[in-house]
Amino acid sequence: AKSQGRNRYSVFTPSMQDVAQKRMRLINDLRVAIAEHQFSVFYQPIVDLKTGQIRKAEALVRWRHPVDGMVSPADFVPVAEETGMIVDIGNWVFQQAVKQVTQWRKTHHPDFQVSVNVSPVQFRNEGINQATWLAQLSAAGLPGQAVLIEITEGLLMDAGGNVTEQLRGFRQAGIGLSLDDFGTGYSSLSYLKKFDIDVLKIDQAFVRNLTADSDDMALCNVIIVMAHTLGLKVVAEGVETQEQCDLLAAAGCDYGQGYLFARPALAADMPLNLAWESAP
Ligand code: C2E
Ligand code: CA
Ligand code: CA
Ligand code: CA
Repeated sequence: AKSQGRNRYSVFTPSMQDVAQKRMRLINDLRVAIAEHQFSVFYQPIVDLKTGQIRKAEALVRWRHPVDGMVSPADFVPVAEETGMIVDIGNWVFQQAVKQVTQWRKTHHPDFQVSVNVSPVQFRNEGINQATWLAQLSAAGLPGQAVLIEITEGLLMDAGGNVTEQLRGFRQAGIGLSLDDFGTGYSSLSYLKKFDIDVLKIDQAFVRNLTADSDDMALCNVIIVMAHTLGLKVVAEGVETQEQCDLLAAAGCDYGQGYLFARPALAADMPLNLAWESAP
């Protein structure tokens, strides 16, 4: 029994220990990152496919680890969510976004809007101090329309009374709601109405194969028609080629976001006057 145990130990435990150690290090490093302000916010333009104009951008958090360099949010946001640290990070991102949109409204366009990703965890346990967020907006002299909150279907699926109330609070302040990664979760059309969603973001998984897979084109078409019927705007994510852009524009998609237009970058490096040539 003992040797069996040892065998099991040598086969399985080291890798598990490795994973656990990596996680512990990540958690510790994240704590330091918050204390030492190692984060920055990148912005990616959201392009109006009819006019080519840029009046919107999405805020995307970045972490420059002192040793490992840039760490993708895909790698640290889940751990930040599990540990609750996303609350502090998210509050900081919102604060930065408010500063940035204030500037763009002065220097670029008075209606400029910045989208902020908000994780379900931020809605739980008094994560978002909604009063503080709204106070930051009014202190900057901004209407609610200056920001948009990107949420995911998971939040709406098990939205308790508290979440519903917070969403209503944002809406009452004029802050729109955007449903991120649409089509990848357990989408229910009833959510769109119940939570008064303003914008659908078609997940990049559907955009990726648009030119090769006629099913994906059909899905995009259906999503766009349905959204418009319900009075929602549609953003296509992950637009990488002109061909994808043309197909989406022809299907009536309102906005496009992706590497074709610009990669996420620091505000100073974000192009504001692409004047993108839209499809006929
Ligand atoms: P998301 O909200 O779906 O953001 C879109 C992701 O697609 C971003 O990845 C963006 O850089 C990437 N992307 C944009 N255009 C293209 C393209 O043409 N092709 C491809 N392949 N990718 C493109 P990023 O910045 O690595 O963020 C990953 C995820 O991390 C986000 O997905 C979001 O769920 C989360 N995240 C990012 N910033 C925040 C934040 O401030 N708060 C919270 N709670 N989550 C965040
Ligand atoms: Ca998003
Ligand atoms: Ca998305
Ligand atoms: Ca995503």
